[in-house]
Order: sequence, then structure tokens, then C-alpha cells
Amino acid sequence: MASGTLTVDLDALVQNWRALKALTEAEAGAVVKADAYGLGAGPVARALAKAGARSFFVATTEEAASLRHTLGEGPTIYIFSGHMAGDTDMIADLGLVPLLNSIEQLQRHFEALPQAPFGVQLDTGMNRLGMEPAEWGALRDVVLAQGPKLLMSHLACADEPQSAMNALQLRVFKEMTDGLDVPRSLAATGGTLLGAAYHFDMVRPGVGLYGGAPYTAAQPVAYLDLPVVQVRDVQAGESVGYNMGYVARQPKRVATLAAGYADGLIRALSGKAKLYAGPRDCALLGRVSMDLITVDISHLSEIPRSLTLLGRQQGVDTLATAAGTIGYEILTSLGARYTRRYTGG
Ligand SMILES: *Cc1c(COP(=O)(O)O)cnc(C)c1O
Repeated sequence: MASGTLTVDLDALVQNWRALKALTEAEAGAVVKADAYGLGAGPVARALAKAGARSFFVATTEEAASLRHTLGEGPTIYIFSGHMAGDTDMIADLGLVPLLNSIEQLQRHFEALPQAPFGVQLDTGMNRLGMEPAEWGALRDVVLAQGPKLLMSHLACADEPQSAMNALQLRVFKEMTDGLDVPRSLAATGGTLLGAAYHFDMVRPGVGLYGGAPYTAAQPVAYLDLPVVQVRDVQAGESVGYNMGYVARQPKRVATLAAGYADGLIRALSGKAKLYAGPRDCALLGRVSMDLITVDISHLSEIPRSLTLLGRQQGVDTLATAAGTIGYEILTSLGARYTRRYTGG
């Protein structure tokens, strides 16, 4: 079975990075965790490095190691999950920078690699990762004596500009870090859009680079075309797909396309998503199967070779809304079976 084609527009990616960078005086890093949100950490990071990005952020040490091989020496690679047990050799050998999250991680790092660079992640209210204000207060001077490269924290509600949580976290971050003479970072994509007060020395956008909300001005980066495997005419009263998920009220022409939930078309899209033949929309009929979907093409004058799920007509956030999720989940679910094409960069 021919697979779908995922096209990643690296020029649009670089434009998004440059446009976010233009909003700030701070350094613009780039978050490329989860295989660059499903789009391919190798090509994405190479394109951003070529455009001038010098600081990259990933979730785990394995991701950081693979990124070091992609980028070579030079760019700084930060690890959000910090210095985990078993990762010491990789961190040392590849010059990675863990963002230490806890007393346990501080101890591990200072004992195993006393000279190696590190940053510190502070919890300003999200209660997910990082040292809490009281812990930080107690250990701050010891940590500062080791020369951290970066003090960072993460906003819980940056995609809701009106949320009082933003100002509260900003205040806590300042209380924890003012006057310490160490570079600071608080803003991801949402925080970058909140304005200069949130930028400090480095912003670290992720989803906005890949064309997702809350950066609504972004250029689309991901395009997904799915080939038609078979077309059939169904009569009124006939059903389509598992559990008779769709029952035709009138005669319909139905195209079967080669992608399903195993390719990231999450099952919550059943009966809800639209696909596009050029500008014309075509409804997804019935249930999403593992490897296939069925689509109404009754109104098309010709049988298309493929239909577009992600493109100019429909971006990741529109599709996410149809499925009751967020663009991040749509992107990071994109499967491994697609033929991947990279343009530009
Ligand atoms: C994922 C992540 C980012 C990037 O967030 P976006 O909303 O995708 O811009 C930044 N910082 C931390 C700590 C993260 O986990």
C-alpha cells in the first residue's frame, strides 16, 4: 500500500523562528523535543542552526545525544528532564547541559561531573518540574558557586494571556532570580507572545516554530496528503466502516484512503475531520480504522489520486479542534509510515 506524504516546509519553519526572534531582544532558542514535535529533529535542527539558532532544548538525554550527532559541536543542547541516573556518561561525553530539577539531581551532577555545565529549572507554580522556592532559597548560594549557565522556569497558562497565573509566575520567577547575574529564561511560544516582561535573556519557542497555536501568525509547516486506495459507490441504506459508523441516506461515492489511527489520525477524528481536494472539502465518513479512512467524494467531478488532511485549507489547530485536542497532539502523533519530504532549509 502506498503511504501518505508528509511534507515539512523548512523555509516556513525558519521564517517562524525569525518572526518570533524579531519579537524580542533576547536570544531565541528552539525546542526540538519529541522529534521536533513529530516533524523530524534532524532536518528541523539543521535548518534552524543554519539560520543562526545556537541553543536547543529537548526532553531527554537520548534526544540530546542524537541531536548532538546531528548538529556537531557548537550549539548548546539543554535537557528539560535534567540529569537522570544512568545518563552521566552521555552528558559528559557529548557536552550536554542538564536543567537540574531537584536536590537529588544537583547532588548527582555535582558529585559525578563537578566541572560540567548545567542549568537549573525552578518551579514557579506549575508543580511539574523544578525546584520550589523554599528549596531554592536554601540551596541557592551553593548552586550559584558552581556557575549555572541558565535559570529557567515554565508558564502553565501562557496560551491564556488574560490568566492571572502568568503575572503570578512572573513575580515568583523574579523573586527567585533577581540580582543573581545568571542568564534567565521563562517564555516558550506563549510567553514570547506575552511581551518583553516575560523574555529575560532567552525565549524558547516550540510549537510556534511548527505552525501551531498560540502563535496564530505562524506559517504552516506540515502538509499531509493521503493517497486514495479504492473508490466505491454505496446505495442509500448501506453502511461504511466498523460498527456501521456511517449509514448513507442517499447514494454516495466513497474513497478509501491509506492512513488511520496507527498513523496518528486519532480515532476521535471519526465522523468529524474534513479532507480537501484543492479547495473543496470532503467529509470523513464513519470510524477511523487502523490503516484506513473513508471519505465522501460524491461531489467531486473526478476521482482524486490523493486528498489533503493538513495544508493551506486546514492547519493543525483546525484539525485538532475537530478532534477535541490541541495542535501539539496532532503533530506529535504523526506516524512513522509516511514518506517524509523536506523542502527548503
Ligand atoms: C515544551 C516546552 C517548551 C516549548 O513550549 P511551546 O509551547 O511548544 O512553545 C518550552 N519549555 C519547556 C519547559 C517545555 O516543556
